[in-house]
Parts: sequence; structure tokens; C-alpha cells
Amino acid sequence: MRLDKFICKSTQLSQAEALACINRGEVDVNGLTITNAATQVHENNLITLKGVTLTARASRYILLHKPASTICSNKDEHYPSVLNLLNLENQSQLHIAGRLDADSTGMILITDDGRWTYNITHPSRQCRKVYRVRLSSVIAENLVDQFRQGVKLQGEAHLTRPAELEILAPREARLVITEGKFHQVKRMFFAVGNRVVALHREAIGPVSLDVEEGQWRYLTQHEVQSLR
Ligand code: URA
Repeated sequence: MRLDKFICKSTQLSQAEALACINRGEVDVNGLTITNAATQVHENNLITLKGVTLTARASRYILLHKPASTICSNKDEHYPSVLNLLNLENQSQLHIAGRLDADSTGMILITDDGRWTYNITHPSRQCRKVYRVRLSSVIAENLVDQFRQGVKLQGEAHLTRPAELEILAPREARLVITEGKFHQVKRMFFAVGNRVVALHREAIGPVSLDVEEGQWRYLTQHEVQSLR
């Protein structure tokens, strides 16, 4: 990770404060003073700040049940940020691994480990996301095949990846996708003339939502590994 990030992670310092320490030449890596904040370092390097050895704190991995009318952003805009539900130290270091729209509910993952987030969000990793969806119109039976074959979303050059649709009731379905384009689920139904009226994420990869709305918990080590 970057040197400035390592310093934030292993101290209470903000990124601006970490940068200032680096610029003042207060940080050594393996005995050499380093003034480039972008220098890549590893946990097994000897990193000191004003001569004191720093040890990286363990990354945090959190599962949260997002309520409607909250936003997946680090700052409050029209709605409060879901991060307000956490009330943790150094919260500015956390980010959301795969957002939900303000009106969507369900499972979100929060972490300070960017590499882990990549595994969950990058299309090449094909991480499964499971949604429960309510629609404004009856779901056509042939949609199961259409979604399996992929649909063309407005403004996109390629079809969506094969998605699994399970029709649960005339206007209710479960949809599994392995990519996460902007508003993907809503746009997939819009592309076939239907409209999503409620959207809830039940699972990401092998991990399922198991806490009440507004509640959160840390992932187990096994769950963290299962999403790598
Ligand atoms: N797809 C959407 O359209 N919205 C979400 O919140 C998540 C997936």
C-alpha cells in the first residue's frame, strides 16, 4: 500500500497529517528517509515515524443492513450516509465495497482494504450479488431466458453478463448478477419494459445478510477469505 495510507492505518493521523510528516522527512522505511508519499510499502518493511516503529492495524471488514433513505457515500448529501450507523474510530478510512441506491435496502460491505473491494466490485472477478426485486408490472416468463442471454442496457455497447432470474410471484423475483454497472438491476428491467419499485440485496458472494435493518457486524475471518 502507499506510504501515506500505511501511516494513517497505523496511527490516528489523517491523510493530510501523514503527508505533512512525510514531507518533513520524519518517516523512514528500512532505515532510509522517504519523502514520496506514493512509495509502496509492505507490512514487513520497517517503517518509523520520528524514530518510533509503526505497526499496521488489521483491516476492518463490516457487513451492514442498509435502510432506505440513506446513501452509500462518505458524506451526507440529501440523505444521511450509512456510515453514520457505525460510529467507529477513523471512520474516514472506510469505504463501501459496492454501493446501493438511496432507495435500495440490504447488504453492503464496508472496509478499508482496497484490494479486497476490487475482488467484490470489479467485473472481471464475477462476484455474485443476489437481489430481491419488486416490479410494477407482471414479470414475463421469457425474461428468465432473456436475462440468461444478456440484455442491452441504454448507453452500453455490450450485453449484460448472463444473469439468473427466479420468478417468485407475478411481480416479485430474485436476480443474481455478477457485475455491477450503475443502477444495473433497475436498468435491466427498464430495458425489457418493466420498472423496479423495490430493491433489496440479500447476499454478496457466499455471504448472506443476517442482521436487522440499520444493524451491522464484523465479518468473520472465514467470510473475509471467501470474498478474496
Ligand atoms: N442495481 C440497481 O439498480 N440499484 C441498486 O441499488 C443496486 C443494483
